[in-house]
Amino acid sequence: MDINKFVRPNILALKPYSCARDEFKGSAKAFLDANENAFMRPYNRYPDPLNMDVKELIAGINGCRPSQIFLGVGSDECIDMVYRVFCRPGVDNVVAIDPTYGMYSVCAAINDVEYRPVSLNADFSIDVDRLLTATDASTKAIWICSLNNPTGNAFAYDDLRPLLERFDGLVIVDEAYGDFNDGESMIPHLDELQGLIVMRTFSKAWGNAAIRLGMAFASEAVINLFNKVKYPYNINSLTRSQAMAMLGKADEVSALASDIVKERGELAARLSCHRLIKRVYPSQANFLLVKVDDANALYGYLSGRGIVVRNRTNVNLCDGCLRITVGTPEENDLLIAALNDYER
Ligand code: PMP
Repeated sequence: MDINKFVRPNILALKPYSCARDEFKGSAKAFLDANENAFMRPYNRYPDPLNMDVKELIAGINGCRPSQIFLGVGSDECIDMVYRVFCRPGVDNVVAIDPTYGMYSVCAAINDVEYRPVSLNADFSIDVDRLLTATDASTKAIWICSLNNPTGNAFAYDDLRPLLERFDGLVIVDEAYGDFNDGESMIPHLDELQGLIVMRTFSKAWGNAAIRLGMAFASEAVINLFNKVKYPYNINSLTRSQAMAMLGKADEVSALASDIVKERGELAARLSCHRLIKRVYPSQANFLLVKVDDANALYGYLSGRGIVVRNRTNVNLCDGCLRITVGTPEENDLLIAALNDYER
């Protein structure tokens, strides 16, 4: 697949910003090139633009090459990057499963790109033919989120592979919640499936939403384009050092993810037998989608008790649904206690 045929012409022609430190090879004795303050260590210097050592650790954990990784200010920057690199404003379009994570459509609107939502089946499974039917010659990308937000289910590799094989363009598989699921990641398939972009994040199982660090995994051709377009120093030094510290604790992170999954099972069991809950949808993520009688009323009541959940009742296929994140055991107890007190 020739990725360049999908790239916006202005981006193909772009000469990226280059700083003196990109050009300098060897060991420097004095940095007099970037007009920084030479004092005030350690944050007086611009950070590393590419962070290859961070990427080496991430590559080791995910079974890919460091050159297949882009680091963004959260996955949200990676999402925006797809539009900025591939989609001509006012001309191109993207297709996405529906319901799904809201930023795919927000970034489409910001970039003036038509967004075509395609409904999942009522059981939240994916219909590859329906997605492909929504595409045309101007469709640059298809958005898949697996595990999907807000439905909590995963799409199997056997469902996604035909989509990648049949679509001539980019397919993004957002695996933000993938660390909660021992199932397959798409990352090992990057070399066979040239149009594939996988996204992951430090915000969920890695427990570091505040540092704003997301990852896109793709062919070297795509990663080089993303690096060309990003702000030169998008990942700041504080984020970088916290990421390095976390990457040294991968075992601890996966043990904590298992604890959260166990806690999810307990919360699901308590909610399933509660009089207010009509249905708890199966979830492989760190949240539960639940159907209730009157989602707006219950949402308002919980807010009044200081318990913030996500009201999804106006979202396609989620009529009457709230999305509830698995919290600490104490937070989950507060939720159940509030539900017990609710009077219909
Ligand atoms: N993808 C999905 C599916 C999400 O649910 C979220 C956040 N809710 C993100 C991406 C954004 O992640 P980040 O914090 O890395 O920007």
